[in-house]
Amino acid sequence: MTDGQRGPPGRGLGRRGVPPEACICPSCGEEVSKTRGVPCREMKCPKCGAVMVGK
Ligand SMILES: [Zn+2]
Repeated sequence: MTDGQRGPPGRGLGRRGVPPEACICPSCGEEVSKTRGVPCREMKCPKCGAVMVGK
């Protein structure tokens, strides 16, 4: 018996692969091109000021 647990990583990173190319506002749907290196959640919608999410 081995104790090695090889489960999924603890950090939920969601889908791996290509990062979103745009951020979208969940509130009003405004879409802006993503700034590389800046997470969408650190951007705010230019229209309503809501926190953006990855498209
Ligand atoms: Zn908005």
